[in-house]
Amino acid sequence: MKYQSVQKTNQLLQYEALVPRLKKSHPHYQKLKQQLGQDLSGYLGEKNVRYYFEFIQVKKGYHITGLRFKGSTFYTQIDHLIATLTAIFIIEAKNRKGYISQNKHGQYLQQYNQTTVAFDNPRIQVEIQKRQLSYVLKKHGFPTIPIIPLVAFSHNTVQLDQSITSPDVMIAQDIPFYINDSLSAQHQASFNNYELNQSNKLLTKLHEPLQTNIIEEYQINKADLIPGVICPTCKKTFTQRKFATWTCPICQKSDPLAHIQALREYALLFKPTINNSQARWWLNITNKDLSYRLISQFPLVKQVGKKAIHYDLSSLIDNPK
Ligand SMILES: [Zn+2]
Repeated sequence: MKYQSVQKTNQLLQYEALVPRLKKSHPHYQKLKQQLGQDLSGYLGEKNVRYYFEFIQVKKGYHITGLRFKGSTFYTQIDHLIATLTAIFIIEAKNRKGYISQNKHGQYLQQYNQTTVAFDNPRIQVEIQKRQLSYVLKKHGFPTIPIIPLVAFSHNTVQLDQSITSPDVMIAQDIPFYINDSLSAQHQASFNNYELNQSNKLLTKLHEPLQTNIIEEYQINKADLIPGVICPTCKKTFTQRKFATWTCPICQKSDPLAHIQALREYALLFKPTINNSQARWWLNITNKDLSYRLISQFPLVKQVGKKAIHYDLSSLIDNPK
């Protein structure tokens, strides 16, 4: 059985491209910075949980990460889904640090750095995901199969208090043991091979990645952005173009290809095509010939009418790093 690798969502890539370039005076700067932190933490949590899947002992099955689909009425997102012939496991990854406990009202609490915050009960979140998945499978005529919801805390500093008594809430390392035990206790297959494959095809088809455009959503104008090529090594500041390369004034590292990442970010935030004057603005250069040399390595977009020549950057976002 092969496990998928966890990819950054398009939304996270947009936050990563935008926040370092957004002027701190922008009214949504703090909110966007916080959102970037949250999405990044979510991504790291999913990735940490994924690491332990290699220890699951199951030969036949499939794994889908970041599955987002429309259930009975609303969209639901499952961090990890592992389907086998006898059961489907759905795993909600939580990357919270510190000490996690549950109070008598069922609320989850995180204690970290001398503060305590309450957060949504992840057990309820994953139960909702289970119902939505069960609804979709039933609707498409699949036989009933046990769906086992799990919550995995993935941060390496996390400690779970004994007030958390649900056996399906655990630290990430315990995931493979839990799944192996459940599978060896369940001998009766609910799906045959054909149904297992068909359910994979169905869920892959129903997957609808979240479409976001944060530039539009937060009404960000050109004037709100600081254009330029960020240092790929220290990521602390913008590089300067000198002697056919980009050099960082802080760490002093040079990289002649540093503009590629800047162009990728342009494609993520705006559109996957760029012309000479847009490139000069975005890369913060004034020389037309230099701009031409940097973007003309990309394919030309077929011209309609008398519009300026555009270059196609889509190869940069089809395989995001
Ligand atoms: Zn640097």
